[in-house]
Amino acid sequence: MAHYEALEHCTLCPRKCGINRYEKTGFCSMGALPVVNLYMLHHGEEPPISGRLGTEDTRGSGTVFFEGCSAKCIFCQNSKISGGPTGKGEGADSSRLAEIYLELQDKGAYNINLVTPMHFAPVIADSIKRAKDNGLKIPVAVNTGGYDEVDTLKMLDGLVDIYMPDFKVWDPKTARQILHAPDYADKAASAIREMFRQVGPADIDPDTDLMRKGMIVRHLMLPGKLFDTKKILDFLTGEFGNDIYISLMSQYTPMPTLPTDAPDFLRRTVPSGHYDSASDYLIDKGQINAFVQDSSSQGDLLIPDFKD
Ligand code: SF4
Repeated sequence: MAHYEALEHCTLCPRKCGINRYEKTGFCSMGALPVVNLYMLHHGEEPPISGRLGTEDTRGSGTVFFEGCSAKCIFCQNSKISGGPTGKGEGADSSRLAEIYLELQDKGAYNINLVTPMHFAPVIADSIKRAKDNGLKIPVAVNTGGYDEVDTLKMLDGLVDIYMPDFKVWDPKTARQILHAPDYADKAASAIREMFRQVGPADIDPDTDLMRKGMIVRHLMLPGKLFDTKKILDFLTGEFGNDIYISLMSQYTPMPTLPTDAPDFLRRTVPSGHYDSASDYLIDKGQINAFVQDSSSQGDLLIPDFKD
């Protein structure tokens, strides 16, 4: 069942706007029809998704970037497309999306990687079913900001192989400051539990080192928020341990689009000492399935060239 009726009184995400997406837009700024800004073979994801850089076999992840977002963090690193329609994207119903996935598979993608698709969940579910009916064989990954509703995730049960949610922030006060959602951590924790229920422990192909099923939870450290980072790592290691991968990222960059009233801590970068401390904390908890970065990797190198 495609659940298209959910778009007529939209409560797909915790914002629960309750509007008819065929007639107007809510907090995510998007109508009912998904808009794809860009699709490409992407080499900037973690190695089990994008392949091993520096080897012959680096075809990449078949990544589809959707416009709009229901989280809308004020520091968004993809703000060119998360804020709403750019006017340069392609409106794509489920048939067109299925075509895109199959085109990426034909180009050699290791997986289909849907970036911020949950505000279009009913159409996404339909598109994955159509693509599978028409020969899609590679794993399907869904990449979210973590501010997701469990009932909406259930629309994708059995269709998604890999989830890659963010867990951005723990403290409700900070969550209110950065994405106007004091319930962020509660929602992210529930969403991650549901994602894990669907896909189970990480399953890596021993021949290719690519992920066939499982989860990579990403945490982009924020300047001055080491306490939040440690609480998030406590939760993830305590509940899931090495059944999931944890990607600890250091490259927070203050964007020129930061609002003038943004809290001061967002105008800095993450001190390398804090990143090293968080990495040590994660390793001390026994987390082997972890991706950590060189703490000098701040900048915008991983941000694709979106149409805007
Ligand atoms: S998906 Fe968009 S319209 Fe629906 S509840 Fe969330 S923000 Fe509102």
